[in-house]
Amino acid sequence: MSKAHRGRPLKEENPGAGRGSCPLCKRSGLKLLYAYEADDKKLAICKQCNAAVKTGKFKETIAAL
Ligand SMILES: [Zn+2]
Repeated sequence: MSKAHRGRPLKEENPGAGRGSCPLCKRSGLKLLYAYEADDKKLAICKQCNAAVKTGKFKETIAAL
């Protein structure tokens, strides 16, 4: 397993090193390396939001998207 979220593999596999604006926390310029899939929605979210979603947060934000 390569470190898909760090270093050279990240830059080779993601244009811009996977950076963008997170749809959940609305911050920009962070790495969106975690896939969220539910209810036919596919989101690329940041590390912090990935952890938050797992604890049950952002349900309303996701439903509103
Ligand atoms: Zn986020």
